[in-house]
Amino acid sequence: MGPELVVDDLRVRFRTRSETVDAVDGASFTVGPGEVVGLVGESGSGKSVTARSIVRLESPGEIVDGSIKFDGRELTSADDRTLRRLRGRELAMVFQDPSTTLNPVYTVGEQIAEAIRIRENPGRQPFLAELAAGVSSRLRTRRRRSEVLELMETVGIPQADERIDAYPHQFSGGMCQRVALAMALARRPSLLIADEPTTALDTTTQAAILERLARLNAERGMEILLISHDLGVVSELCDRVVVMYDGTVVECGPAESVRSDPEHPYTKALLACLPHQSEPGSRLPTAEWPPADDRPSRSDESPLQGTVLETDRTAVDGGTTATGDRGWTRGVGETGGSGSDRGVDGSIVELEDVAAAFRQSDALVDRVLGRDERVPAVDGVSLELRAGETVGLVGESGCGKSTLVRLIAGLEGATTGEIRLRGERIGDADSRTDDQLADIGVVFQNPTTSLNPKRTVGKTIAEPLFEAGWDESRRKDRIEEVLSLVDLPVEYATRYPRQLSGGQCQRVAIARALALELSVVLLDEPTAALDVSTQARILNLLADLQADLDLAYLFVSHDLAVVRHIADRVAVMYLGQFVEVGPTNRVLSAPTHPYTQTLLDAIPGNEAEECRQWDREALAGEPPSPTSPPDGCAFHPRCPVASEDCTRVEPPLEAVDGGRTRCLYAGEWRSDDSQRSAGDADATETQFITNSERTEPGVARTGRDGR
Ligand code: SF4
Repeated sequence: MGPELVVDDLRVRFRTRSETVDAVDGASFTVGPGEVVGLVGESGSGKSVTARSIVRLESPGEIVDGSIKFDGRELTSADDRTLRRLRGRELAMVFQDPSTTLNPVYTVGEQIAEAIRIRENPGRQPFLAELAAGVSSRLRTRRRRSEVLELMETVGIPQADERIDAYPHQFSGGMCQRVALAMALARRPSLLIADEPTTALDTTTQAAILERLARLNAERGMEILLISHDLGVVSELCDRVVVMYDGTVVECGPAESVRSDPEHPYTKALLACLPHQSEPGSRLPTAEWPPADDRPSRSDESPLQGTVLETDRTAVDGGTTATGDRGWTRGVGETGGSGSDRGVDGSIVELEDVAAAFRQSDALVDRVLGRDERVPAVDGVSLELRAGETVGLVGESGCGKSTLVRLIAGLEGATTGEIRLRGERIGDADSRTDDQLADIGVVFQNPTTSLNPKRTVGKTIAEPLFEAGWDESRRKDRIEEVLSLVDLPVEYATRYPRQLSGGQCQRVAIARALALELSVVLLDEPTAALDVSTQARILNLLADLQADLDLAYLFVSHDLAVVRHIADRVAVMYLGQFVEVGPTNRVLSAPTHPYTQTLLDAIPGNEAEECRQWDREALAGEPPSPTSPPDGCAFHPRCPVASEDCTRVEPPLEAVDGGRTRCLYAGEWRSDDSQRSAGDADATETQFITNSERTEPGVARTGRDGR
């Protein structure tokens, strides 16, 4: 029997110069021995503050009342020494952003070894020992090498022996999160608190981390408190779910029953916000509980402000997708789409065989010595973006999605191929005309870091207008127009980003992109950092703006449920190439490329039939390095249905089933695979390579028959 965590009537308060905020207001729940409990709710619901309070990292907040007991010991009154021992040996926490968790100047091996040292000596660290820590860290790593390697293997870091001396910047986001997990496990905790551990990761990496957590729980009986705004993730992993709203627990129960038969109206509203619960393209419900008028006014900066605004708009729209004009039209002669200057097939942006490669090193010495090795990031991509259309761009981290966005935005130049805007060839930003620059806008993933904290909302929106030579009175009018377009009150023009919620910041980022009356918006993971309810509001807003302004969207996302909801067409990228392009409905319900299928398999909590072709382990390992791609099909080292031919023949992107697919067995592997799993392998002509027969990427392999 493991220890039990009991949180009882916990109250945590934050004081600012102007007000006091009760971030946690009487929360009570338990995590029993061996249990996995999910803590869910919108941003600002108090879930992260609750989690941090358990390990007593609530500062600058303060626990003003209530009790937190772990294994019978009261933590709210524990002294520093007791807390250090608990954090060193019994409690561990994994945070959302692995890039800020890890120290960039130490190798990952040194950092895991340091966590082992803390477990062995969790007492106070003398000042001199603190100073010597850096000097002796390599020594410690060497001494504890075998244990560090074992931990790296436990969390699924491949080739641990080669990577133990790597620095965090040499790891992908998913691998950094595994290192953070290894550091937490080094303490052999009884309770692991994971605060949004997969929010910043792509679907397949997320699935791998969740799988790993589930295994650790099953094998070691380690209790897990999983904090997440993603109900799919929580229902996938947890035994019980605790739903928080406005600092209090509103529902608690077994994960399956909370998911399938929620009792509280807020839980129902939260579940309804999930894009896969609604018809693709329909207006998403938002968490409208309690009614806007009854909502507590905790702060003027409350994220709930967005809900009030959305409610207002819903009332105007009658709850349906807005299709009418919202009082703004493009000025005569101003930049903006008109039917006459679109491409022949209505496309505004066309990419033809576009490729981009980046230097591995910019060092002068490398250039002088002629060492000019380049890493291909995008490799022969062709695509059209049409007015009023949304193209979803999906794939794992590092597959080239963001580079493609930067190429279209002009932030990078293409190495080969052609990008055309309204039929005219365009290069990087320096070579574009003002109109061409104004015609394409970008919205980035993290709304809080993409805005200048020292600029007011008004100044942020005015910046591109100023650059384009608009005078002050036109700028002022335009700021008011775009704020109303994104459903923000005009008074928000004087606010700073810190005074806004995440959803409001993202509205400001969209308003800035719209300031110059553009035709194309590149949305790079615009909802990845938002909770489901805020995400629903932003998706509704984007649909409204597109209907009103006939905008073309390129929507980059690792969330296939979001892409299914918003995109007309979808392009799946792998190692810089498109492997499948086609109508969203068809691609995400009957994919013709095995990689698309493995992405669908990885969606947490989605039990739809098309999402369960193979198990999670089907997509083993990471994508191969773009500097040494494998021979034949680039996906063959990870493909669940690869054949001997796949190791030699590079498949072209060919027309299949209303789209294009890059697979030798496009449209055939699905039936082949099902026959194979039904024990009818002989009926197929294809010789498949099984997982156990795989070797490392780029290494020649043989089929079952040994050829
Ligand atoms: S060509 Fe072969 S390895 Fe590549 S995706 Fe198709 S079946 Fe898999």
